[in-house]
Amino acid sequence: MPQIDGDRLLADLKRLREFGRYETGVHRPTYSEVDVASRHWLADKFAEAALDPVIDGIGNVFGRANNASRRLLVGSHSETQPKGGWLDGALGVVYALELARAFAADPALSGLGIETVAWADEEGHYGNMLGSRSFTGRLDEAEIDACRSRDGVALRDALAQAGFAGRPRVAVEPERYLGYLEAHIEQGDTLDSTGRRIGVVEGIVGIWNWRVVLTGQQNHAGTTQMARRKDAGVAMVRLATQIHDRFAQIAGPRTVWTIGRMLVDPNAPSVVPGRAEMQVQARDIDTAVLARYRDVLVELAAACDRAGPCRCTVEELSQTEPRLMDPAFESAIEAAAEHRVPAGHIRMPSGAGHDAQVISHRLRAGMMFIPSLGGISHHWSEDTKEADIVLGAQVFADAAAAILKAG
Ligand SMILES: [Zn+2]
Repeated sequence: MPQIDGDRLLADLKRLREFGRYETGVHRPTYSEVDVASRHWLADKFAEAALDPVIDGIGNVFGRANNASRRLLVGSHSETQPKGGWLDGALGVVYALELARAFAADPALSGLGIETVAWADEEGHYGNMLGSRSFTGRLDEAEIDACRSRDGVALRDALAQAGFAGRPRVAVEPERYLGYLEAHIEQGDTLDSTGRRIGVVEGIVGIWNWRVVLTGQQNHAGTTQMARRKDAGVAMVRLATQIHDRFAQIAGPRTVWTIGRMLVDPNAPSVVPGRAEMQVQARDIDTAVLARYRDVLVELAAACDRAGPCRCTVEELSQTEPRLMDPAFESAIEAAAEHRVPAGHIRMPSGAGHDAQVISHRLRAGMMFIPSLGGISHHWSEDTKEADIVLGAQVFADAAAAILKAG
């Protein structure tokens, strides 16, 4: 069995936090000076672990295990959200480093290679999961030409400034790996609120977004009789309530839905709104559940339109498909968790997006969660108990060993 060194693991996590430290968290946007420095630091740590370090043309940092006969690719992203947490992404990268060291130290595991990776820009400062999409052939040069940061900086300029421009982009060789493993903090409170310490990720949810538009008649708020109004704002709020009630009736065990954006036009106190729109989002791991949500939304909107006095339309904005994790990898993580912390684990979907969903298009993929205190993430106060960080690494290492041995 690989043996995790908890003190070494925690020391490296804390060292990585110093690149862009903000309060107890980190501010480390992709390709910023601190991000580039942290990627070079990671490359050096990978080299110390006897891996061949490579920083590629999109900023992904790899630690290649060229002499291994069987390999798992293990990692996560290393940049953070603005004023973000110290573990989001960093945890999975430092776990990968620690696994590589633990495997190298155990003669019983010789020939079994952990290849480490720190993906670039999972957090979307310039694009959408640029690093893992580049690796899997889902990012073309034209998109790199077009990408800009929220501040308007061209991705090409950022890559040049970082010193990554002109380097080749490493592309996946599927036959090189048995698969991909990623550990991450949960970012929700399923584990923390139930006292469980390991989450076995079954899949990453699909996210479907719709726009609902209500069209009425803009008019004077003092002179228009109530009975004659076509108030799009009122129609939207009533419909929103119906949507919430009906969605609750058809939900799967963990479906979540949100009306996160509502607009009223012209949005003035003395004008009856003539137009209103809202964006409706549903997330689930099961496409059939998402399709049910779409059908109910279309049905409610049609009924609203028929009943009047406002017209109502639904438009599909975007759909990402749910991505299931590899069942054998799930079983390996679950067995490792059961061995170290009996009954202290649970199978669960990920409600947040992760690089593993991109990698799963080309490699078998598995994910493991550890608890987030209070379910807080994307905030500098994000944290996890040190004992849970160390336990998680040991479970993750055990699972990786089992997968590599099974071949
Ligand atoms: Zn993350």
